[in-house]
Amino acid sequence: MSCANAVAVVSRILLAAALGASHVRAQEGAEPPRSAPVPSAEEPQGALYDTLVLRNVRLIDGVGNPPRGDVHVVVKGDRIAKITSGWMPIERAGEGSYRVIDGQGLSLMPGLVDLHGHIHFRAGDAKLPEGYVYKLWLGHGITTIRDPACGEGLERIAEESRRSESGELVAPAIVPYAVFPAERAATAEEVDPIVAELARKGARGLKVFALHPDIYQALGVSAARHGLPIATDLKIGEVDARMAAGYGIRTLEHWYGIPDAALRGVQRFPPEYDWDDELQRFRWAAELWPQADPAELEKLMELLLEKRVTLDPTFAVYEVNRDLERARNLPWLSTYAHPALLAFFEPNPRNHASFHWEWTALDEARWKEHYRHWMRFVREYGRRGGRITIGSDAGYMYQLYGFGTIRELEMQLEAGFHPLEILRHATRNGALALDLEDRGHVREGYRADLILVDGDPLVDLKVLYGTGVRRLEAGRMVRRGGVRFTVKGGRVYDAPKLLAEVAALVAAAKGG
Ligand SMILES: [Zn+2]
Repeated sequence: MSCANAVAVVSRILLAAALGASHVRAQEGAEPPRSAPVPSAEEPQGALYDTLVLRNVRLIDGVGNPPRGDVHVVVKGDRIAKITSGWMPIERAGEGSYRVIDGQGLSLMPGLVDLHGHIHFRAGDAKLPEGYVYKLWLGHGITTIRDPACGEGLERIAEESRRSESGELVAPAIVPYAVFPAERAATAEEVDPIVAELARKGARGLKVFALHPDIYQALGVSAARHGLPIATDLKIGEVDARMAAGYGIRTLEHWYGIPDAALRGVQRFPPEYDWDDELQRFRWAAELWPQADPAELEKLMELLLEKRVTLDPTFAVYEVNRDLERARNLPWLSTYAHPALLAFFEPNPRNHASFHWEWTALDEARWKEHYRHWMRFVREYGRRGGRITIGSDAGYMYQLYGFGTIRELEMQLEAGFHPLEILRHATRNGALALDLEDRGHVREGYRADLILVDGDPLVDLKVLYGTGVRRLEAGRMVRRGGVRFTVKGGRVYDAPKLLAEVAALVAAAKGG
């Protein structure tokens, strides 16, 4: 936003506030006033106000307390200053900029934290338009992402993180994790200088794939020394979840390594199995849970709880494996999926995770069985106090940024969690897993990462989708739902406007 613009906005807001204040005086002693919202279409995206008042909202606090309403939340700059209920006079604007949003019919909750949000500037060889991924995320109320690989370059993503924080970039807050380059460390002695280098380049954690145990152990020690938490994606290899927990991982991504730690002997794959063939790798991965010994799984669960490992299951991204046609025909793909991304998803051995060149009814049945085991494990882990988070891994397997995060919430409902627990996974748990103590909780003094949702996500998580839900009103089916506003560090974004911009980018790409 330019300076001249900022001044114009501030004066217009002051005028609106003054009108609101006289409105209050006229009603003194009567019903709590319903201030007229400032028309958001005229507001610049990402404006930061000295005072932002979110009135008459239904509050879901992010830590699992019962919802309350109506509540008024006052934000000063980037902080939540006051949460009150009942009658509240509109504060006088004073000298600063001021904005009131009336939240009638809206739920207010913390912004979502997606722990598995790959920032992609490209799909395959094709460039994605600038801001495409970020707008889909912010448009779905995601205010923080962990980039679990920084595939677009660690230093570049660290810079994006800085620009997002300062408000220059319309994007969620970004926590860059760097992939530990296994190919550069043949011995344990080589590990520490590499970790030091990644920390210097701006990594706030490490993503660790399959490694030899001695290297992994050294890495655990080194990462702790440099204060970098480890997120692990074990694939199928020598190190299983039991060993990784011993090496000090913070989060376990997906599910790899869990059934493997409960096998008697090695994985019983067909003799012709080839790990590098992704079709075979994904096909036979679904056989691992049924091969696992339940007593060993139980012991593993106890160990993971003791070591306080966070599970970041990413159920949604694998859903294609249990229902390929559902994944390929999701209604939002036509409007919001960039053609380059759709092309990337189509079967092609050159593209990671685009392996469905042969996917049978039996494969889908195997994966449905896989999900039953997996969901039972994650549900039980949460029931015993283990930390569960939300991660989408969007950008693969027909899973679209933003939409995929909401689908993850839905799948955790299928796993058996209560909606309040799921929203805690999506907010407070994510913040804690990233050591962001002042986020993910609507609480005075905490950072104002908030979303206003049309409808109640506790009643139906689907209202969080950018495409909303269909409801019968006065005899007609109408569209409701969607995130109305995303507030990140006090900056207000009009979420539907961001999504409309994405739709326009996609339409332009198709036309061109
Ligand atoms: Zn990933």
